[in-house]
Amino acid sequence: MKILLLGKNGQVGWELQRSLASLGQLVALDRHSVDGLCGDLSDLDSLRATIRAVRPDVIVNAAAYTAVDKAESEAELASRVNGQASQVMAQEAASLGAWLIHYSTDYVFSGQGDTPWREADDVAPVNHYGASKLAGERAIIASGCKYLIFRTSWVFGARGNNFAKTMLRLAKDRETLNVIADQVGAPTGADLIADITALAIQQVVKRPELAGLYHLAAAGKVSWHGYACHVIDFAKAQGEELAVISVNPIDTTAYPTPARRPLNSRLNTQKLSENFSLHLPDWQSGVTRMLREVLDK
Ligand code: NDP
Repeated sequence: MKILLLGKNGQVGWELQRSLASLGQLVALDRHSVDGLCGDLSDLDSLRATIRAVRPDVIVNAAAYTAVDKAESEAELASRVNGQASQVMAQEAASLGAWLIHYSTDYVFSGQGDTPWREADDVAPVNHYGASKLAGERAIIASGCKYLIFRTSWVFGARGNNFAKTMLRLAKDRETLNVIADQVGAPTGADLIADITALAIQQVVKRPELAGLYHLAAAGKVSWHGYACHVIDFAKAQGEELAVISVNPIDTTAYPTPARRPLNSRLNTQKLSENFSLHLPDWQSGVTRMLREVLDK
């Protein structure tokens, strides 16, 4: 099996380099060109030519325009990378008979209510990033290619920046932290997403009827405030010296950002668990592994 991985250096892409390596021949690209192959999703013609040159059996697209606030002022670029590039990949996958594995987000939903979102629930993105990711989903589904789309939420990886690392850094310098308490979701490890992707590819190539749209997130739920408290309590228990004394819950309205955020990021993962016979671990176990790695450094 020949796999073309796009976005190899993002949080999920980095972990995919590990989890996909044993499945077959892996051609992994970031946005830069190498050996005449171009992984820049904003260059649609070169992207198309690259897929035609590689002729993969599976395209795994971990690249995306993920700067949620910046997407409000760079709407055209976000739409090209998240929407039009997904369409190019889907069209090329369809003509090659290849699989397309793609990632999307709970930000396609309005964020209302407190029920975990199911795959078939109505979508209504509240910001441009969410709208651009929805356009990508729709283009893939309309293309007629064989696909898996995983909508996920609150992704963290040990590599690069993440919310937990930011909280640890701030907690070293400040006595008081104010953290949003009315957005609720499940922090989901990039390693978990990558491992489940590899398992799902192995199953779906044998059972194509499993193709489709799935919600993929760790089990359980927490607010950003609860997440911050978990991180800080864990670090203190490990003997980290922190200046922080109080972590105050605040409402989203007290922290204005260019892009609106959905309050309810809960995802119902029943379809994924049942179709692929998977158990999704609770969010704390992934966060604990990441914190041990970060705090050991
Ligand atoms: P990251 O931001 O960590 O990685 C995205 C990668 O895409 C980066 O390596 C980035 O490269 C690359 N990229 C951006 N623009 C382009 C471009 N024009 N051409 C090629 N590559 C580009 O994201 P994650 O790994 O966290 O996200 C993986 C998937 O999960 C995405 O589809 C995302 O929408 C989705 N998702 C993420 C969530 C999160 O909390 N992070 C939540 C829900 C869904 P560079 O570093 O050079 O900019």
